[in-house]
Amino acid sequence: MFVKDFLWLLFKENLLINWVYRHMLGSSFPVLQQRVPACELSDKGSYKASKLKKPIFSVAGYTSGTTNQPMTVYRSVKSILLEEYMVKTFLALHRVPLKAKIAVLRGDMIKASTDNTPPFWRFAPFTGRVFFSSFHLSPENVPAYLQQLSKEKPDIIMAYPSSITFLAKQAKLLGWVPDWSFSGVFTSSETFTPENQQICREVFGKVFDHYGQAERVAALQQCAFGHYHVREDYSVVEFVDDEHGTKIVGTNVHNSAMPLRRYDTGDYIEGLNKLGNCPCGNHAPYVTRILGRDDDYLLLPDGRHIGRMDVAFKGIAGLLECQLVQADDKTLEVHFVLEPSHDPAQLEQDLAAALQQRVGDMLDLKFIQQRSIARTKAGKFRSVIRLNAGNSSVSN
Ligand SMILES: [Zn+2]
Repeated sequence: MFVKDFLWLLFKENLLINWVYRHMLGSSFPVLQQRVPACELSDKGSYKASKLKKPIFSVAGYTSGTTNQPMTVYRSVKSILLEEYMVKTFLALHRVPLKAKIAVLRGDMIKASTDNTPPFWRFAPFTGRVFFSSFHLSPENVPAYLQQLSKEKPDIIMAYPSSITFLAKQAKLLGWVPDWSFSGVFTSSETFTPENQQICREVFGKVFDHYGQAERVAALQQCAFGHYHVREDYSVVEFVDDEHGTKIVGTNVHNSAMPLRRYDTGDYIEGLNKLGNCPCGNHAPYVTRILGRDDDYLLLPDGRHIGRMDVAFKGIAGLLECQLVQADDKTLEVHFVLEPSHDPAQLEQDLAAALQQRVGDMLDLKFIQQRSIARTKAGKFRSVIRLNAGNSSVSN
């Protein structure tokens, strides 16, 4: 933590670097005019098969593996700078101060998940950032989180959508809102539904989501109107229709270590506006919703894929979090966290009704009440997990 934070201060989080990113790097990453290359779509499978060797002057990263094994991805120095440029200019767009105090709620390990006593946060000695645990969020612990936030008064919170949503739901119950000048919550790395964004905005005011992926072929960022605009200075993005909907396909331009051409992200969108005539003044194309990975679906015994399960639980009273675990072809475990003072039997009845609307009676439902839903090793929340249904396997 000590050394890592010092390096972070040197290379990422100091006034000079922030200023350079905001004001000097624009000419290195102009809006791209390139045409989409004439080739077939590629995906994880095609690149894994090609067995790319690690290029010199590159840094390795990994895609998160869900139904597939993780894929190693390589980044050139320019690609690394570009990624940081995306973050810094996103913050600048939303008027975050150059030297912002940052609270982080993004899956950092603060203490053992079995240790349920505060503090659930830790201070970074050089950058002054405060890291909060994503692994200790529970109705009992949330008041301590909120108290600490009020004490620290960060300019921004950088969070995983699932973590900030949990915090916001509890804050709403407690009637808590930030009582200081707050620039906003910046999220990324998980699917963030409009419904959950709305809950977070009711508590924290401004919430801005960034969409990207480990392969770094497309970046979309939310404006003040909640629209996800394509960052046209990042890559060449296409929206391609298939039998499941409209998906994001990207071609990177600034990563010589791993050029990806017409790469299928597997993420679907809704509300595409190619004209980009948004009242915010940004004329880049935008979408109104990012649906997330196509592997977040249930598989019914008749072969049907049922996705977008998060929508099923919209408006159910008393539900804090819910995870669907398809244990086999016929059994669906419904893990849920109940709001205090709600009746679990009533909640189970409501959940069953909502689920049966979508999946009929083809799956046997098994309800399991939890104090909290386990996160992946990276601290991320998964709304749907298929264990042995179909040919998929799950890894963190
Ligand atoms: Zn806009």
